[in-house]
Amino acid sequence: MAKIIDGKEISARIRAEVKTKVEHLAARGITPGLAAVLVGDDPGSRVYVSMKAKACAAAGILFDEHTLPADIGEDSLLALIEEINKDERIDGILIQLPLPAHIDERRVLESVSPHKDVDGFHPFNVGRLALGNPLFRPCTPYGILKMLDESGVCLDGKDVVVAGRSNLVGKPMAMMCLARNATVTLCHSHTRDLGRKISAADVVIAALGRAEMVRGAWIKRGAVVIDVGINRIGEKKLVGDVEFEAASKRAGAITPVPGGVGPMTITMLLSNIVESAERRFSPWRA
Ligand code: NDP
Repeated sequence: MAKIIDGKEISARIRAEVKTKVEHLAARGITPGLAAVLVGDDPGSRVYVSMKAKACAAAGILFDEHTLPADIGEDSLLALIEEINKDERIDGILIQLPLPAHIDERRVLESVSPHKDVDGFHPFNVGRLALGNPLFRPCTPYGILKMLDESGVCLDGKDVVVAGRSNLVGKPMAMMCLARNATVTLCHSHTRDLGRKISAADVVIAALGRAEMVRGAWIKRGAVVIDVGINRIGEKKLVGDVEFEAASKRAGAITPVPGGVGPMTITMLLSNIVESAERRFSPWRA
């Protein structure tokens, strides 16, 4: 049976490290700060923002929430972001997605200062990641990289299959694995014979958003399996993109859903905010 890679436990360890770094900054009179911008009253977005607020409070990070009406004009939103870009108390800006349909999401994300872009979505940061010199890394793939590191998985020379090519997860994940000298195959909905590609992989990272699409029988014996998917089945049950029971009989290590990748995302947001605050006061590190 595969070893379970416990995201909750790794996340707790990293949050403790973040807290220590915040205490070191506090000793120099510095409080890291996050500004969250929420447009409208989508209940899902509210829940995410309040989870981030709680995580910041527990870590000693200032949390400044801007809740705006759903019908706010794009120019007013851009003006607010410009103000936050200049606010010296703030090290990170988070634009809670999705934005209402009348707002150009790309324009808004590009208005965030790249030096406060703790989600790593700005083209400047996407470019830096592609060049192998990242400033901010997107939180979910960054969390997966940390999980692999903390579990002693070395990617150097490994065959990695990343299934899913979204800008949020798959693409940055592939870049990060490449930077670690893995040989990366990035799969998507036009990929022929996904199963054959996965069955040759030493490490499989599934970010498809398709419940249990990765069959257990596809997994190479001893492979490491990271399941990013969060799929709701009925009212209560959550499953990943991997057929967990069958895959864990073949894998060497596997992440569960829930309790795997999920807890890492907000943790890496905290980590990015603290990195940003440390850079603000030691600018030569940028
Ligand atoms: P997207 O829907 O943006 O991307 C899904 C990707 O999967 C696309 O590249 C798509 O291909 C590919 N895909 C879909 N169907 C198939 C198929 N049949 N065969 C091969 N490839 C396919 O999803 P995200 O990347 O945003 O998220 C993926 C999953 O991860 C979701 O379940 C999401 O909820 C979860 N997630 C979890 C997070 C966490 O914190 N744990 C954070 C972010 C996401 P194509 O590009 O060709 O359409």
